Amino acid sequence: MQYVSTRGSAPALDFEGVTLAGLASDGGLYVPAQWPRFTTDEIRAMRGLAYPDLAARVMAPFVAGSLTEDELSAICHAVYGDFGHAAVTPLVQLDQQHWLLELFHGPTLAFKDVALQLLGRLFETFLERRGERLTIVGATSGDTGSAAIQAVAGLERVEIFMLHPRGRVSDVQRRQMTTVRAPNVHNLAIEGSFDDAQAHVKRMFTDGDVTGRLNLGAVNSINWARLMAQVVYYFASALQLGAPDRTVAYSVPTGNFGDVFAGYVAAKMGLPIERLIVATNINDILHRALTSGDYSAGGVTPTITPSMDIQVSSNFERLLFDAGGRDGAAMAEQMRAFEASKAMALTNAQAEGAAALFTSARADQVETARALQWAYRAAGQVIDPHTGVGLHCALAVAEAGTVAAGVPLVTLATAHPAKFPDAVERAIGVRPALPARVGDLFGRAESFTELMGDYAATRDHVLDNAAGSHG
Ligand SMILES: *Cc1c(COP(=O)(O)O)cnc(C)c1O
Repeated sequence: MQYVSTRGSAPALDFEGVTLAGLASDGGLYVPAQWPRFTTDEIRAMRGLAYPDLAARVMAPFVAGSLTEDELSAICHAVYGDFGHAAVTPLVQLDQQHWLLELFHGPTLAFKDVALQLLGRLFETFLERRGERLTIVGATSGDTGSAAIQAVAGLERVEIFMLHPRGRVSDVQRRQMTTVRAPNVHNLAIEGSFDDAQAHVKRMFTDGDVTGRLNLGAVNSINWARLMAQVVYYFASALQLGAPDRTVAYSVPTGNFGDVFAGYVAAKMGLPIERLIVATNINDILHRALTSGDYSAGGVTPTITPSMDIQVSSNFERLLFDAGGRDGAAMAEQMRAFEASKAMALTNAQAEGAAALFTSARADQVETARALQWAYRAAGQVIDPHTGVGLHCALAVAEAGTVAAGVPLVTLATAHPAKFPDAVERAIGVRPALPARVGDLFGRAESFTELMGDYAATRDHVLDNAAGSHG
């Protein structure tokens, strides 16, 4: 499988190339040159497969030429054999129509594990093949950092330096990073804000002293392999609900548009998806874009769903490219204008292409809390606030008749409620406990290095402690 950039001028790469590259060299995002498509019979034959085998079946066309079937299968078994639930992503029924797809049974209790655990193994496989090492440098305000650390802890050819703003991440979030004891994991607590930490990371990628000595990498959500891994759970859940002989709809708590774009990919591959609901909180750039065609960035308002507090959604570019006719030159021009003015209008083709599958909705904090209460009262389910945004939107769209009553509507449960205990307790009066397998989080020793907020100190610490340094 070959991959092309959404901005048309970066070279086409194979799967190994796009996995290690992340962003394309022209600033665009990689997408498959064409969508692989399963026949109805091929999809029906997937029924009953265990998750790791289903994952290998669904992802096979995307990795063709870079991994053999046996290699892919071994990776999927190693990654998904280790989740906290045998089904990996179990479905839970809420009522006649509504379901939850629990994506939080990985090591850090959020859906990002499903993709990042796979990405870590892919890095290791490809680096070994090339005889190379990779030094991942990242900044986190909470969730992605711990998922990335857990994904690479103990790997031979990958090391990670994760910066977090000292004292500004929650205790659970910090401990999920700092209690991981592996020689290739380095936690740095930086004095200052998340933006200060992020600025250090960005500067390292353009600092010749660093790039001359380290092969730097990132694990952000624009990496194609992450989206690919997320396609699998749409197949897993739809098959359980009767696909390919029945259509299914999804409501997806959305930030960077990665998770919901994976649903679009599943539909392109032949899975009968009736509708994808893009569920946003009050930071609703995507809801505005999908309802009025106006994609314009505002400020960010902090909410009880921090993983969805975004200004722009990087993966949205993939949809605009595909729905808009795959014109890389036009996409590059459109994105240049957007980066200059922070606003753009969708073309007719983009708006119509998006409307064919996506519906959007938003939830404010009162509505989110009400969805938590509904799940608790109607089905005895304690859900996290991100999932609550998705559920509110699912209930609203079903009420409006946009998804017919006979179509199962699955809300993606993107985080375990115990990651956000305060917001959950405020909404339903119940404080969720950490699951047993991570329950000793507060008993484990922490390890991190505190650094004052200047760039040179951060850079020198990374260079002095990187095993992958050559020179
Ligand atoms: C990252 C995240 C999201 C948003 O997912 P995107 O792929 O960025 O749209 C939603 N909920 C939780 C809990 C997350 O961690």
